[in-house]
Amino acid sequence: MTNSLTPDDLLRAPKVLLHDHLDGGVRPRTVVELAAEHGYPSLPTTDVDALSGWFYDAANSGSLERYLETFAHTVGVMQTPEALARVASECAQDLAADGVVYAEVRYAPELHVAEGMELPAVVEAVNEGFREGQKLAEAAGTPIRVGALLTAMRHAARSMEIAELAVRYRDDGVVGFDIAGAEAGFPPTRHLDAFEYLQRENAHFTIHAGEGFGLPSIWQAIQWCGADRLGHGVRIIDDITVGADGEARLGLLAAYVRDKRIPLEMAPTSNVMTGAVRSIEEHPIGLLRRLSFRVTINTDNRLMSGTSMTKEFVQLADAFGWGLDDFRWFTINAMKSAFIPFDQRLALIDGVIKPGYAALQA
Ligand SMILES: [Zn+2]
Repeated sequence: MTNSLTPDDLLRAPKVLLHDHLDGGVRPRTVVELAAEHGYPSLPTTDVDALSGWFYDAANSGSLERYLETFAHTVGVMQTPEALARVASECAQDLAADGVVYAEVRYAPELHVAEGMELPAVVEAVNEGFREGQKLAEAAGTPIRVGALLTAMRHAARSMEIAELAVRYRDDGVVGFDIAGAEAGFPPTRHLDAFEYLQRENAHFTIHAGEGFGLPSIWQAIQWCGADRLGHGVRIIDDITVGADGEARLGLLAAYVRDKRIPLEMAPTSNVMTGAVRSIEEHPIGLLRRLSFRVTINTDNRLMSGTSMTKEFVQLADAFGWGLDDFRWFTINAMKSAFIPFDQRLALIDGVIKPGYAALQA
């Protein structure tokens, strides 16, 4: 790492996380314990270390089927209110211990009804878990605020129902909506009614777009569906050309994304693992930061990618020579892009993030 920045500095630096999946960040030990409690028979191994390695290898295999299989196991053990609350509480505690001061964590309620829970019960269990985790984090001296994003699966047909759920719980733990799942063949416009409903309700939403699929997906998410943010959005790079003189030329869509300050929720390790990008060094986040796009740094799936916000920061510091000024810029970008009210975002920027970086830089 350059400029005498240590991993410990980056651990202590305040962080804001906008793109993290609840079922992608379960502690391996918790997966094993919940499987035993609930009689879930399908885990590849019940040895915690071996399971942890199995998740990483399967996610890193380059096979989409194996990657998706990993989620079958985490979701498989998250089918009761108690299990969901435990996972949500541990999520809040783990993020807080990683220096995250504000997080929006997403999950798909429709994936947690296999054993008979109703959708509202799923949301209430997760909310309860986040509240509990926040309390424990506060007691541990690492306060964090966590809000939920409700995700609808793009290959399914429940997006309207999930959007209504997000509006119903908007003042109670839920801050927004998202769609996720295989991008190719399932364009965001398939769920246009849900997005139009959310716009009429003055509600916020992000859309996974430009990760596994290119510019048309990003264009639809913004110009047809009205997304406030883009999940990943890495392929926006396809609309930017850099000449031999180093001068960047933006196409109309890339220019629109930058002009409108549309936040890009990038997750470097995840983007490499899913093949959206070849390596951290080649990740477009370097160019996009230079061009002052509204880029943010995220974990996506901490368990499958074996990552954390601190690890993402450390890797980016190594790859691009970034220092505290850069990470402060990314963190303020992310806080500005959060779905909580403006005055609350500002309070975190002025009261927590800026003083936190100032203390590290002193
Ligand atoms: Zn994601």
